[in-house]
Amino acid sequence: MADRDGKIWMDGQMVDWRDAKIHVLTHTLHYGCGAFEGVRAYNTVNGTAVFRLQEHTERLFNSAKILRMKIPFTQEAVNEAQKAVIRENNLESGYIRPLVWIGDQKLGVSPKGNQIHVMCAAWAWGAYLGEEGMKRGIRVKTSSYTRHHVNITMTQAKAVSNYSNSILANMEATDDGYDEALLLDASGFVSEGAGENIFIIKNGVIYTPDLSAGALNGITRNTIFHIAKDLGLEVVQKRITRDEVYIADEAFFTGTAAEVTPIRELDRIEIGSGSRGPITEKIQSAFFDIVNGRNPKYAHWLTKV
Ligand code: PMP
Repeated sequence: MADRDGKIWMDGQMVDWRDAKIHVLTHTLHYGCGAFEGVRAYNTVNGTAVFRLQEHTERLFNSAKILRMKIPFTQEAVNEAQKAVIRENNLESGYIRPLVWIGDQKLGVSPKGNQIHVMCAAWAWGAYLGEEGMKRGIRVKTSSYTRHHVNITMTQAKAVSNYSNSILANMEATDDGYDEALLLDASGFVSEGAGENIFIIKNGVIYTPDLSAGALNGITRNTIFHIAKDLGLEVVQKRITRDEVYIADEAFFTGTAAEVTPIRELDRIEIGSGSRGPITEKIQSAFFDIVNGRNPKYAHWLTKV
């Protein structure tokens, strides 16, 4: 990935992709304290636009706050950087990755005395869990790894270190032939996917775990709340057990990368009809209308680059 053309915004400057490098003694590389975002730009009917840019930037600053890191840029500057990397890399649509990390002035667990750095990169990225998965649904396995407890790592921060848990769960599931992992919280209740929030549908009502299960406060999750309201569907946030997923009529994952991906199977048990359910399909289609600029009600969620 390092060996390509293009530009990356690093600490206020656009630098050549190949030159956007850090030192091996970078604090975050050793101890894992950093924060990041995943943002998408879509080729909308009104041109290229970033979806819910301000909400992503706010979450990045909140993640940094939780991790006691002071970002040396304003939110406006970080918004501009994200738009600029889409433009500079000539992308009509793509994925944007802002990252905040601790520098290389000194090592030791205490990061005090180190500089805080920020970068934004962007590249083209299609369906995260595959085009086929978007239509047919994906196969998911309950992970043997437990999701972070809310007082071990900070689960409302999109923290770099939280993702070792996601990586282990995703690798275990994909090595076993599944598409993605579902993680349970420390009490055994459904939390989220390795990089996605989960929703289930039973008798026309939509359920999703409340955030005390350690799931990230997903921006796509919030978008689904709006879509459900528009479709006249109730969303209930509550504790969910894995067997409630088995006997749900429909289930789907949400995320900036995963968008709205139906789940057709959990632990080799078919969910509902074993394919994308009708309500999921409606929600998916409403989601793609919004992100592609076809729903004027949500035009304010799209920031033109
Ligand atoms: N949970 C985790 C662990 C994630 O990594 C993501 C992706 N950011 C999500 C949920 C979904 O969040 P969002 O919809 O804001 O991308």
